[in-house]
Amino acid sequence: MYRKVPFLTFVVSPTKKVKINLAGCNFNCKGCFAIAKKEMGRSFSVEELLNLLIKSSKVILGEMVNDVQMTGGEPTTNADYLISLIQKLSDLHINKIGMSTNGYLLDRNLIKELKSLNINYIKLDLKAYTDKIHKHYTGKSNATILRAVKLLHHYNLNFYVRTIFMPDIMDFEEIKKIAKFLSQISKNITYKIYQFAPEQLDKKVSRTPTHQEMRKAYSVAKRYLDNVEFYTTETAYKPDPYKHIEVRADELLDRFKEIDKISKSVIPDWNMEYFTMNQILNLP
Ligand code: SF4
Repeated sequence: MYRKVPFLTFVVSPTKKVKINLAGCNFNCKGCFAIAKKEMGRSFSVEELLNLLIKSSKVILGEMVNDVQMTGGEPTTNADYLISLIQKLSDLHINKIGMSTNGYLLDRNLIKELKSLNINYIKLDLKAYTDKIHKHYTGKSNATILRAVKLLHHYNLNFYVRTIFMPDIMDFEEIKKIAKFLSQISKNITYKIYQFAPEQLDKKVSRTPTHQEMRKAYSVAKRYLDNVEFYTTETAYKPDPYKHIEVRADELLDRFKEIDKISKSVIPDWNMEYFTMNQILNLP
């Protein structure tokens, strides 16, 4: 059982966390610029991936990481791989294990399995409430995702829901519908709204929402829910106490060079340090 991994992202401070980017996704979001959307990177069995994680943690943090988040791409497209990875991470006594997901394959069985493995957190994307908009944007219906929200709540997993605000697509009306839907399950569900960042896209899908629009989206959701947060490039990166270091697949270094260039044009003090997988794996 193998999965491709284009890179790992370590948060070096203030926490000691890593995001494992598992390649491949069952959605085709129009605004996606995730490198892990496509099957690219280096193939790893679960054991090989753990070896990379352990070695990288030692080099980058000087000790084992204490928070591991599976992301992508989409972690659930190979549930057996995901479950095996979480099991083996638990055996390593990692403090926190979590996952970010588009929720499409998060059915009752998988949720029960994640519950039995004591997964610590799930970040669930709900890209749109109106199914027509969801299908248009991702290529898939959101029926199973809406059900997943109810099941996550029912089985008492620690989760939050997030949406990217995109003017004229995922606009105030969609935010309102999502917030209303969530409030009918529980007013306490945490809902996070993110600002669309179109810089890395070749095609124009939408534009960057203004800070005022983000504030308004927050206010719309807040009418229904107790725990709403919103993030813009300002709040996400300035002031930025976070320091990241990546471990990148050697075969994708040219691609990463382009990504760094675009990121620097948006965030002038962008300075992503990285190691290559070969550098890490060739260490004794
Ligand atoms: S679910 Fe995420 S990785 Fe998949 S296509 Fe959409 S934005 Fe990209």
